[in-house]
Amino acid sequence: MEAPQALTFRFDPSATPVAASERAARLVDPGFGRVFTDHMALIRYSDDKGWHDAQITARAPLSVDPAASVLHYAQEIFEGMKAYRLADGGTALFRPEANARRFQDSARRMAMPELPEKLFLESVERLVEIERDWIPEQDGGALYLRPFMFASEVFLGVKPSAEYLYMVIASSVGAYFKGGAPAVSIWVSQGYTRAAPGGTGAAKCGGNYAASLLAQKEAIANGCDQVVFLDAVERRWVEELGGMNVFFVFDDGSLVTPPLTGTILPGITRDSILTIARAQGLTVREEPYAIDQWRADAASGRLVEAFACGTAAVVTPIGSVAEPAGRFTIGSGGPGQLTTRLREQLVAIQRGQAPDPHGWMRRLG
Ligand SMILES: *Cc1c(COP(=O)(O)O)cnc(C)c1O
Repeated sequence: MEAPQALTFRFDPSATPVAASERAARLVDPGFGRVFTDHMALIRYSDDKGWHDAQITARAPLSVDPAASVLHYAQEIFEGMKAYRLADGGTALFRPEANARRFQDSARRMAMPELPEKLFLESVERLVEIERDWIPEQDGGALYLRPFMFASEVFLGVKPSAEYLYMVIASSVGAYFKGGAPAVSIWVSQGYTRAAPGGTGAAKCGGNYAASLLAQKEAIANGCDQVVFLDAVERRWVEELGGMNVFFVFDDGSLVTPPLTGTILPGITRDSILTIARAQGLTVREEPYAIDQWRADAASGRLVEAFACGTAAVVTPIGSVAEPAGRFTIGSGGPGQLTTRLREQLVAIQRGQAPDPHGWMRRLG
């Protein structure tokens, strides 16, 4: 089925939008993922009609048939991206084309139809334009966009669904961490893995998160903030956190991050950090890094910093790592110098406070 690129969005404004005073109250301390805007974008897909019925409408609960195939076989993918208020008062999205392409990659892996990039961008941009007033003014505030798609065919047979619903919702978010990112402690998952070769590790699908939750629970039970996963084959190579990629900083100023071999989610923040670091002449290697090496390098002082990165929290320093055998500290145990600098440089581009040499900011009209 050929996708009609020229689908037009119908806009049905909410009859009961949140009043400006109430919105202002909700934006004082929005936290993450709890405050939602008035509208949502929606596009339907069916095998016979292709993409159709594009609309922006009042945000409301869905009516889902109990036999909708997503509820049974988990054909679901999503994206996470942010719209920022710029220093000059404008609004911009950060690298939305990269999210559009990754959404297509995820769809392909999950045997779902690929939403044309143009429709993805239009759905997100239209929604942000309508919900601009929901971007918090405060430092670190943004509008978090959550595009997602799920199998909606009413059928219990195991096969790719013939119908899908693509949607975008928006959530006002504050700074993920107030007053800069504190260092987190990480638990090395022993019994659980996140992704195996040939599996869905590189797709942004809800199922990957479902499978990571028990390991995350184990991390909390062991007094840690987050879990880090090792590879599923040798249980030796560091892969990533439940929802963030990981970087290591050495005493010679070089950086290492695990390579994208199919079991790691190709983070856009990861790619942006690689680009920023290389543009400054830093040496960055995408190569496997073993947990034994991590422990040894932290002890010898060769490893001076480590951090995790992703859209929600941007860059998060890793202060210590815990395993059943014990805990080791990285550097001072607090945010490292290069970690802090890379975080500030990326945030400055996203806020329009620094030049955008890589053309990452997509301004809205
Ligand atoms: C989304 C995600 C990331 C980070 O990707 P960004 O594009 O940087 O937000 C990392 N790991 C996993 C498992 C993810 O789902």
